[in-house]
Amino acid sequence: MNKVAVYPGTFDPITYGHLDILEMGCKIFDEIVICIAERAEKNTLFTLEERVSTVSYIVKDFDNVSVEPLTGLLVKRMEMGGIKFILRGLRAVSDFDYELQMALTNSELDSEIVTVFLPGKHEHLFLSSSIVREVAIHGGDVSKFVPEYVKHKIELKLRGKTCL
Ligand code: ADP
Repeated sequence: MNKVAVYPGTFDPITYGHLDILEMGCKIFDEIVICIAERAEKNTLFTLEERVSTVSYIVKDFDNVSVEPLTGLLVKRMEMGGIKFILRGLRAVSDFDYELQMALTNSELDSEIVTVFLPGKHEHLFLSSSIVREVAIHGGDVSKFVPEYVKHKIELKLRGKTCL
């Protein structure tokens, strides 16, 4: 049977930290569906459509990885596709409370759901989308944190352009 996982997140923008988890996830799962959360409550730099298009480009060479927007409850999307696994990354103790809360909530909503946490790579343990946005907004170089394509999208966005 094919082992399928969703990999949910905001990806505002996608970083090398996200990609580490995706690469490791590909060794465990036969198929991964990246679900990009709308996050209407968060003031995201990129719109949902922009994030979906950027992530789709970045993962285009991964076999068995697809990207889609997520506007409702993750559990509902999983039930629709018969998906049982959630892939998440853990950076440091600071992630743990929130991640545990999410994992327990999702398994309360559907007892068959299992969340799989993978540790981030040590060289990216400090890395988050918010750090990347912060550095870029203040004119810093984000080349070490995100692929060139994403860096270019950030530069466009900060100049007020749409990035589809
Ligand atoms: P959310 O807004 O739901 O936290 P993110 O887009 O920030 O979503 O992250 C999605 C997943 O990727 C989360 O599980 C997060 O912990 C993980 N992640 C992000 N950056 C890193 C990193 N540098 N190392 C390991 N995991 C990471």
